[in-house]
Amino acid sequence: MGIKSFIETSLTDWDGKVSAVVFIGGCDFRCPYCHNWQLVEDPDTTEDLDLDKIVNYIKSSSEWLDGVVLTGGEPTFYPGIIELAETFKALGMEVKIDTNGSNPYILHELIQKDLIDYIAMDVKNSFEKYAETSGAAVDIDDIERSIELVKDFQQYEFRTTVVPGLVTEEDIEKICSYIKGARRFVLQRFHPENIINKEFSEISPQIDEEMEHLTQLCSKYVPTTWRG
Ligand code: SF4
Repeated sequence: MGIKSFIETSLTDWDGKVSAVVFIGGCDFRCPYCHNWQLVEDPDTTEDLDLDKIVNYIKSSSEWLDGVVLTGGEPTFYPGIIELAETFKALGMEVKIDTNGSNPYILHELIQKDLIDYIAMDVKNSFEKYAETSGAAVDIDDIERSIELVKDFQQYEFRTTVVPGLVTEEDIEKICSYIKGARRFVLQRFHPENIINKEFSEISPQIDEEMEHLTQLCSKYVPTTWRG
């Protein structure tokens, strides 16, 4: 595990922020629709990037860069994640983390140490379909712990990729019940290009009207938008 990829400037990885994006290799899930499969399946075949170079870039860009996004893979399983977040905070950066919610212990530590400013947590599916959707044996207690941590945090979003046939309207209503009381839920349109499981490449994404319908449905429970 290590830093495998870096985007110097992004306007799309953190709503309203100009961010740099750090990609960490390795993930405990194998979501069939994952777009970052190289990071997930073969992280050790790519050399780690030099952190000093990234730090120097961020120092030199700190006047206009708002923050750093830690993503992956699953960044909470990177052994140096606490130190990495400390490094970016020490440079005056805000820090966002993208997580699948399977590691509430590190999430808690990052929160307790005031090392993150925004959490984006995936809620993959209804709990009974979690293993199928994540491609892994998942401890649902950990997912529930993460949901509670995130709900208590100041800035966050829960998000679900709406995979046709796998994440149904009924599943989405269940997800809304898990995150009831949350301040932000984002439905993400499924994209079939360049994903881990080629069988899923045949699935057509939802049209705008379907995404809008699901957004309205969820908005009865939690403030919801969609992207995609
Ligand atoms: S949790 Fe994210 S990075 Fe990991 S396999 Fe699923 S989509 Fe890919």
